[in-house]
Amino acid sequence: MDIDLVLRSTRVITPEGTRPASIAVSGGTIAAVLPHDAEVPAGARLEDVGDDVVLPGLVDTHVHVNDPGRTEWEGFWTATRAAAAGGITTLLDMPLNSLPPTTTVENLRVKQDVARAKAHIDVGFWGGALPDNVKDLRPLHDAGVFGFKCFLSPSGVEEFPELDQEQLANSLAEVAGFGGLMIVHAEDPHHLAAAPQRSGGAYADFLASRPRDAENTAIENLIDQARRLDARVHVLHLSSSDALPALAAARAEGVKITVESCPHFLTLTAEEIPDGATEFKCCPPIREAANQDALWQGLADGTIDCIVSDHSPSTADLKTPDFASAWGGISSLQLGLPAIWTEARRRGHDLTDVVRWMSEAPARLAGLDRKGAIEAGRDADFAVLDPEATFTVDPAELQHRNRITAYAGRTLHGVVTSTWLRGERIADRGVLAEPSGRLLERNN
Ligand SMILES: [Zn+2]
Repeated sequence: MDIDLVLRSTRVITPEGTRPASIAVSGGTIAAVLPHDAEVPAGARLEDVGDDVVLPGLVDTHVHVNDPGRTEWEGFWTATRAAAAGGITTLLDMPLNSLPPTTTVENLRVKQDVARAKAHIDVGFWGGALPDNVKDLRPLHDAGVFGFKCFLSPSGVEEFPELDQEQLANSLAEVAGFGGLMIVHAEDPHHLAAAPQRSGGAYADFLASRPRDAENTAIENLIDQARRLDARVHVLHLSSSDALPALAAARAEGVKITVESCPHFLTLTAEEIPDGATEFKCCPPIREAANQDALWQGLADGTIDCIVSDHSPSTADLKTPDFASAWGGISSLQLGLPAIWTEARRRGHDLTDVVRWMSEAPARLAGLDRKGAIEAGRDADFAVLDPEATFTVDPAELQHRNRITAYAGRTLHGVVTSTWLRGERIADRGVLAEPSGRLLERNN
């Protein structure tokens, strides 16, 4: 095996822990993780990053790229550049907000064709489960989508309607029948309809309109359905910590359910959101500081598996100061790692935990067995981080298309100094290489 690259650091995060190491790369694959002072084979290039930490490239399984169709909101070119600059080497695109949505094989092909030449990192696709497309799920699975997203309450776009409980059962039964995965936006529409709806700029009113009960009830119903149908399900963007005990209990009894949360729920709080600041609007919403503490406990005890961005941008004109009508979605693709690292270190976690939540667990969720760890046989995808360095978020330095972010002006720990995809440096202190990402399909 010809080694073409040796990436050396005093701090390499491997499944066995953090240690000085030299990572030998051959043809884009990790050939071996060697001692720090290992001899560099003839013909191999040495890249010594000193004391910067080498992490496995992050895997972000929750990104709304919106391309084609709402490309003015985002696009594969800009989204994958932002991801690369932020240390992410694989993203999975959500099936909605693009036109067409990824709800048939034909639509999947349209999206793949658009993404192919623009992908700076590896890109895969989730399919969508709608009330009327049960017949399309198996063909989409066979065509390589990683699973299926559904909503239990209105999605925000009319071409992607939600499932009621009976429709959910039908789709879940179909997906479980071929061993697939259903990923769920879990807010109960009846609880949302019963909540007070007030327009205006007051964040407290918006928060009251998306109560915890809506999430808790939807999750309890989902657990029941997953148990009854022996289906594999995943709770998207958990915000309500009240649902954690039910989730932990379900897992303990063997229900096949996994959970993600997002940087905004884990680093921002309702108390600090200024009125009218709809760059902080998302659904479910950012909740109170005490709720956030409980979410961190859920990460620490393993009830929450993954942290993924739910990057869901729009154009500035849709972020009106009225919380009721503004587009709901937070842009954070490039900032997830430093945002989470800043909060994690404050709470006594180390980068090994961050890697588990942001690389290893999302890779496992999607069945990406070449991603998510620095060990022989995996893709040579790395994020190199100076974890002690700080920076202040300047929206002008972000790569995503509409440079709006809830993190503007925050000082964060952790500067991504370079990002590597299959042994090639794709980002170097924010300077991006030409696109070299591949389109991924689900294994087997
Ligand atoms: Zn989303």
